[in-house]
Amino acid sequence: LVVLSNVNKHFGALHVLQDIDLTIASGEVVVVIGPSGSGKSTLCRTINRLETIDSGAISIDGKPLPQEGKELARLRADVGMVFQSFNLFAHKTVLENVMLGQVKVRGTDKKVAEEKARNLLDRVGVGVQADKYPAQLSGGQQQRVAIARALAMDPKVMLFDEPTSALDPEMINEVLEVMQQLAREGMTMVVVTHEMGFARSAANRVVFMADGKIVEEATPDQFFSNPRSDRAKDFLSKIL
Ligand code: ATP
Ligand code: MG
Repeated sequence: LVVLSNVNKHFGALHVLQDIDLTIASGEVVVVIGPSGSGKSTLCRTINRLETIDSGAISIDGKPLPQEGKELARLRADVGMVFQSFNLFAHKTVLENVMLGQVKVRGTDKKVAEEKARNLLDRVGVGVQADKYPAQLSGGQQQRVAIARALAMDPKVMLFDEPTSALDPEMINEVLEVMQQLAREGMTMVVVTHEMGFARSAANRVVFMADGKIVEEATPDQFFSNPRSDRAKDFLSKIL
């Protein structure tokens, strides 16, 4: 579904993505882990073209990423993204947040968009908060709204960049549970996270990055019980 081939990117002198080859199959859940600064966020951001690349190619459904205009807006809808900071529109209600993209990008009728938004908000457990503003919600609730907003676009793939890192501990699980459920339903997902429990239970594959490179790819079982590279061993010894 998503194919990155020989992708390279620099920030000035920093070679932040180095010869990245990664194929994500439909329905697959890929968890990306690695030390801070290894390029995990940048990798995610290239997939919906929040970052351009210097060389190589990225395609979704066999089509190269569009460069601009309407096509680019559609790409961002096809590739749902959930960030560490929830990035909801502060001056719009929860319901409006989940309706907006459907109406603006997909051209969905308002009535239809509202019904879909309410269904999705129920599904992630914040249906009763529909008419509140984001600031009136807890972090965990806001993050679940952000997930509902991305899902409202019927994305082909969902990217999660440390979706629980900004949350108080007691709110982490309610967000991970929504993600687990999505994974079970067959959503294609790329998840950058430090939640190793989630990686073990939800991932089909773990991708370990260090210094802008994919150092290791393995099933969670293989990776956690028997990492091959010294970098991965070192990383795991620090976090587990
Ligand atoms: P973390 O675990 O801390 O989120 P990460 O693996 O997500 O780290 P990235 O955010 O992808 O890492 O950053 C990789 C490197 O690129 C870092 O050294 C970072 O400082 C640098 N970098 C990221 N964005 C930019 C930018 N817009 N301009 C310049 N350098 C950047
Ligand atoms: Mg990051």
